[in-house]
Parts: sequence; C-alpha cells; structure tokens
Amino acid sequence: MAKHNRMSMTFDSRSENVGIARVAAAAFSAQIEFTLPEVEEIKVAISEAVSNAVIHGYSNGEGQIELIMELYDTHLEYTVTDWGKGIADVEQARQPAWSTEPERMGLGFVFMESFMDEIEVTSAIGKGTTVRMVKKFEISPVH
Ligand code: ATP
Ligand code: MG
Repeated sequence: MAKHNRMSMTFDSRSENVGIARVAAAAFSAQIEFTLPEVEEIKVAISEAVSNAVIHGYSNGEGQIELIMELYDTHLEYTVTDWGKGIADVEQARQPAWSTEPERMGLGFVFMESFMDEIEVTSAIGKGTTVRMVKKFEISPVH
C-alpha cells in the first residue's frame, strides 16, 4: 500500500507537550476531509496515548516521546513510543476502568479503542511502550 506522507516528532515528556502533539495530530489529519467530530476523536486518542507516556511511562519524570504520523491510501497511522517503564500485562491494562493509579479512571485505552479503527500496543518492562493507532477513511487524500 502506498505511503503518501510521513512526519515524526520527538519531544520531551512534559504535560505541556500533550497539547502540542494533539494539535499536530489534528493538523496531519487535515490532509483528509474528516468531519470535525472525527478530528476531535483523533485528538483525544493521541492525547490519551501521549498522556500515558508522560504519566505512566516516565512517571511524570524525564524522558523522550516520539509521535510518528503516516498517510496511506485508505488510512492514517499514528504511532506513539516511549522508552519508559513499560506495561507488565497489556491485556489487563486495556481493560475498562483498570488503572495502576487509584485516582485515575482507567479509560485512556478505552477511548483510543473506540475512537480509532485499530489499536496495537506493544510493551516490554524496562524498555518502553509503543501504541499504534489506525484511522480509516473512504475518500481519497486531498493532494
Ligand atoms: P486515564 O487514562 O483514565 O487517566 P489510566 O491512564 O490509568 O487512566 P489507561 O490510559 O487506560 O488508564 O491505561 C491503563 C494502565 O496502563 C495505566 O494505569 C498504566 O498502568 C498502564 N499504561 C498505559 N500506558 C502506559 C505507558 N506508556 N507506560 C507504562 N504504563 C502504561
Ligand atoms: Mg491514561
């Protein structure tokens, strides 16, 4: 499948950068004529993945996060990677209302799953986490 465009950004693990990544994801999605609610869903999914990297991956400490954005014939692909602590049990982490922190809702993965068409989580303890998300579209890219 042809790849039409690719962009990557690497940034410090800071809560301020969640908003920047969110806007970048929306800007990249503007190559496709998504509806406003669809763009909103993409923004939420990216925010959740990047927030998780900041809060859990690096425990709100220092680290680097990479966001890769790719445009294919029929879908957009967003990949968020951190090199932080990793997830012990991915299947469990993806359960609704499951969180390692009592004060959190445990809904980040649920949002990512419901707002994107595919989500794939790969993680290794002490090595980090990658969340790959796919958003499909019917129409052809705006050239
Ligand atoms: P919420 O997103 O509702 O604030 P949450 O972040 O705990 O709560 P999820 O986003 O669904 O919920 O994540 C579930 C759990 O998976 C987290 O509590 C955390 O233990 C683990 N997790 C998620 N992302 C990462 C990551 N990048 N690195 C390490 N652990 C993670
Ligand atoms: Mg979360």
